[in-house]
Amino acid sequence: MKAKERMAIARQMPVELTVVERLKSFDEIISGYNESTAILEANRCLQCKKPTCRDGCPVHNDIPAFIALLREGQFEEAYWKIRETSSMPAVCSRVCPHEFQCEGSCVRGKGKGQSVSIGMLERYLVDWMVANEKNMNVACAIPGDFKVAVVGSGPAGMSTAYYLSHKGIPCTIYESLAEYGGMLTIGIPAFRLPRTIINAEIDALKSCGVTLHTNITIGKDKTLEELKEEGFGAVFLGVGAQASRKLGLENEESTEGVMHGVDYLRRINLGEAIDLGKKVVVVGGGNVAIDVARTAIRHGSSDVFILYRRTKNEMPASIAEIHHLEEEGVRIEMLAAPVKIHSENGKLTKVECIRMELGEPDQSGRRRPVVQEGSNFMIEADSIIPAISQNVDHGSDVGQEFKLTSWGTYETDPQTLQTSVEWIFAGGDNVLGPQTVAKALYQGKVAAESIECFLNGKDLKKDRTFLCDEADNS
Ligand SMILES: Cc1cc2nc3c(=O)[nH]c(=O)nc-3n(C[C@H](O)[C@H](O)[C@H](O)COP(=O)(O)OP(=O)(O)OC[C@H]3O[C@@H](n4cnc5c(N)ncnc54)[C@H](O)[C@@H]3O)c2cc1C
Ligand code: SF4
Repeated sequence: MKAKERMAIARQMPVELTVVERLKSFDEIISGYNESTAILEANRCLQCKKPTCRDGCPVHNDIPAFIALLREGQFEEAYWKIRETSSMPAVCSRVCPHEFQCEGSCVRGKGKGQSVSIGMLERYLVDWMVANEKNMNVACAIPGDFKVAVVGSGPAGMSTAYYLSHKGIPCTIYESLAEYGGMLTIGIPAFRLPRTIINAEIDALKSCGVTLHTNITIGKDKTLEELKEEGFGAVFLGVGAQASRKLGLENEESTEGVMHGVDYLRRINLGEAIDLGKKVVVVGGGNVAIDVARTAIRHGSSDVFILYRRTKNEMPASIAEIHHLEEEGVRIEMLAAPVKIHSENGKLTKVECIRMELGEPDQSGRRRPVVQEGSNFMIEADSIIPAISQNVDHGSDVGQEFKLTSWGTYETDPQTLQTSVEWIFAGGDNVLGPQTVAKALYQGKVAAESIECFLNGKDLKKDRTFLCDEADNS
């Protein structure tokens, strides 16, 4: 096929549940490509000599190579091409913000073009492997003399344990909650990431000799020093960024009807029944805010809207999520921010807001919201859910003096992820701040190699396969 013919193929759209079907359940919304749409989409790839998509992918998947195999119908080979670099394609293909990562760097997406649907192609291969009952496990290594403790069972901890156990270094993961998976399980709703997918990843870890303990909080039930005394030669910290950032409004933490984004999702995802009432105001413009709003609407709140201080163009959430959100009946109130919580007998009644306008770009490159003085207005509400980012909870640090960054994240060697305590390494959201699954997976992989070097008394920076870019950690 000539490049001109490839350019003429339109981006293939996956099948989705209708809005009515979606709102009745937490079933996965997108059902992916079939064989012919997958091959058609794969034929859109130009097999660039300098594939920029690969640089945009945090785990550096060989995207052109797996697409070339896919379009020849070599689905199993294409799947294993991805597994050379990624431990969790089933998860990444579903939740990666592709438009900001691989697809955002695809040459076909420049200008008014549409990038190759890399995420959907990756997903097709995973689904094909499952449908055809193919073995997706990689053979495990025989355990050697060392053992490593991993704190937190999110993507960063899972990735570290995965790569270490495949090098013959058994790991024990300690998780403070009753469920494994970190934000995959307690944050991202099942309609975006089915629980069967996460459970399959957990089962793969167990089959490789990784021991998992739930309901053990490091820093409370056990200290890091105690783990060392138990014979763990190194520890990986993957505690994420679990503490909700507050709006800083008076009575924010004491008013009934105010609940913070990740706390709401965690409680709901762990099976608690929470009634937010009819009218719900969600504050923020990222994934967490959108997942909160879409979860609330599925749990019976009928009038849910998002309050965002910039415009839709500046929202950090993916375009597809914003589109689904609006389709499902959630309104976005742009250029507005809450300034006061009004209550009666300790229960929220109204949220006082102020209008904003966009000023000059700030450090993030997005235009800064500027208050329009005197533009205050009221919104009646049963609940307000601030979802404006998260901080790292340092409860696990008891007994250790870690160097921290000004953001409160662990300061690590930017290439090896070793913390200021030499036998402790860290990666994922507790180093990067709230980021993405793929970035956490990559840091887990880098930390695993660093830990292997450390345990074997090798130089942490010499002859490495994977290192972090300094820019990744800033
Ligand atoms: C609602 C929501 C939606 C998101 N959507 C997306 C998306 O679509 N795409 C994407 O790429 N990313 C998304 N993210 C971000 C992504 O989930 C995170 O970047 C990723 O999970 C970080 O992985 P982690 O392993 O560093 O931390 P986490 O996933 O936060 O896992 C940390 C784990 O450590 C445990 N822990 C904490 N302290 C202790 C302790 N002291 N002892 C034992 N265990 C402890 C926690 O309980 C948790 O299980 C989303 C996040 C949220 C909250
Ligand atoms: S940049 Fe786009 S067109 Fe080029 S190789 Fe990657 S996916 Fe294919």
